[in-house]
Amino acid sequence: MNSEEFRKYAYELVNWMADYLDDIESYPVKSQSKPGDILHKLPAHPPKEGEPFEKIFHDFQDVIIPGITHWQHPQFFAYFPANSSRISVLAEMLTATLGTQCMSWVTSPAATELEERVMEWLRDMIGLPETFTGVIQDTASTATICALLTAREKRSEFQTNKKGLYSQRKHIVYCSSESHSSIEKAVKVIGLGSANLCRIPVDDTYAIASGRLHNQIEDDIEKGYVPLAVVAALGTTGSTAIDSIKKLGDIAEKFNMWLHVDAAYAGTALVLPEYRWMIDGIKHVDSFVFNPHKWMFTNFDCSAYFVQDPEALVKTFEILPEYLKTNEDEPVKNYRDWGLQLGRRFRALKLWFVIRHYGFSGLQKKIRRHIEMAQELARTIDNSTEFELMAPVPLNTICFRYRPEELDDLEKINTINEELLGHLNASGKLFATHTRLDGAYVIRLVIGQTEVEERHVDEAWEFICETLELIETE
Ligand SMILES: *Cc1c(COP(=O)(O)O)cnc(C)c1O
Repeated sequence: MNSEEFRKYAYELVNWMADYLDDIESYPVKSQSKPGDILHKLPAHPPKEGEPFEKIFHDFQDVIIPGITHWQHPQFFAYFPANSSRISVLAEMLTATLGTQCMSWVTSPAATELEERVMEWLRDMIGLPETFTGVIQDTASTATICALLTAREKRSEFQTNKKGLYSQRKHIVYCSSESHSSIEKAVKVIGLGSANLCRIPVDDTYAIASGRLHNQIEDDIEKGYVPLAVVAALGTTGSTAIDSIKKLGDIAEKFNMWLHVDAAYAGTALVLPEYRWMIDGIKHVDSFVFNPHKWMFTNFDCSAYFVQDPEALVKTFEILPEYLKTNEDEPVKNYRDWGLQLGRRFRALKLWFVIRHYGFSGLQKKIRRHIEMAQELARTIDNSTEFELMAPVPLNTICFRYRPEELDDLEKINTINEELLGHLNASGKLFATHTRLDGAYVIRLVIGQTEVEERHVDEAWEFICETLELIETE
C-alpha cells in the first residue's frame, strides 16, 4: 500500500468511525447473531493473493459488524462497561502507527517516561498516597497475578521463584465469596492451588464479613497453614459491594499478610473526594488495581496497577539476559520487569490523551453524573410496587428484580426474571446482564457508558416496564 492509498483509506475509515459513533443508537446493542453465523461466512482458507482494500472493508461491514455487540452504545448496561471515547480512539490510531514495543526504556524513552508521569497523575487523581508507584498492565487479572506472585516471593524471600513450591507449607489466600473469578485464576496459575483460596462469607451488604475472616485465619494458623494474602474487593462484580479496607488492613497487619485491593471497576469513583472513604486505611495496602479501560473512557486495554514496594515487584519478575542489557539500565525504569509480559503496548498514550482532553474536573463531572443517574433510577425502583432492589447501590450498579406480589416461590420468581431479561436483550434496545445474590436471580444495570444520558436511562426503564406488562399478560 502506498502513501496515497493509505491516506485515502484512512479518511474513509475515519468517516466510517465518525458515522458509526453518531449512529450507534441505531444498532441492536447486543449482537443478534447465532452461534456459527459469522464463522460460516468466513472462508475456510486464507487468500492466496492479496485482496483489495475495498473488498476487505466491505466484508468488515457486511460480515463482522452484525456479529458485534456494541459496547459503546449508551444503552449498554451489561457486565461492567469497557468504555472508549473519541479522544482515546484517536490516540490508539497513533499508537498503532508508531507500532512501538515498550519493553525497555531504550526501546522508546517517551513511552516509559510518559507512563511514569501519567501513573503519578492517576495516583494523585484517585487519592492514593505518594508512597504508591504505578505501572500499566493489560488487565486486572494480570495485575492480581502480579500481586499474589510478589506476595509469594516476598514471603519466601524470593526462594520460590528459584526452587519451586515443592517444600512449602500450605499457603492460603483469602477473599470474599463475592470476589471476582480472576482471584481464583491467579491462585491457580501461580501454583498455590484453588483449594487454598478461602472464600469468606459476606455480610448483608455483600461485603466481606471481616470478623469471620479473622477467625478463619486463626484457625488456619492453628492447623499449621501460612496465611499469605487477602484480596479486598473495592466494588464486587455482582453488586459493587465495598469491602472495608480499614478492617482488612488491620487484619493483614496483625498476621503479616499481603493486602491486595481489586478495584477493577469501582476504583474510578475515587476521582471523587466524596468516595475516598472507600480507601480509608489505604496505608496498609500493598497493591491496588483499577481499570481505566472500564469506567475511565480509555479504550481496552489499560489497567492501572499500584504498589508500595516496586522493588519487590521487579525482583519477582526480573531476568536480564545479555541481549536485553542496555547502557541505561541503572537510572531508568524497564517496565518489562514490572509484570509478566516482555513486550508491551504503548498504553500510556491514550490515557494521557484522555486525561488531558477531559481534564480532572471533566472526568469528575462525568463520573458524578453517572452515579447520580443510577441513584435516581434506584429510587424509582425502590418506590415501585412491582420491582425491588436486591443490594445496596453505593455507586452506579443496580441489582433488582421483578417481584410479583402473589408469588412466593423463589424458583418461579427466578424464572420470570430470567425470562424478562431474555426479552429485554433480544429486543436489541438495551443490553443488561444478571447475577445471583443469595440464590436469587438478579438483573443488573450499570449506568456507566461514556455517552449515557438521562434520556437513555429513562427510555430503558420505560422499556423494562413495558416488557414486564407483555410477560404478565402472556
Ligand atoms: C472486571 C473485573 C476484573 C477483571 O478485569 P480484567 O481487566 O478483565 O482482567 C477483576 N475484578 C473485578 C472486581 C472486576 O470487575
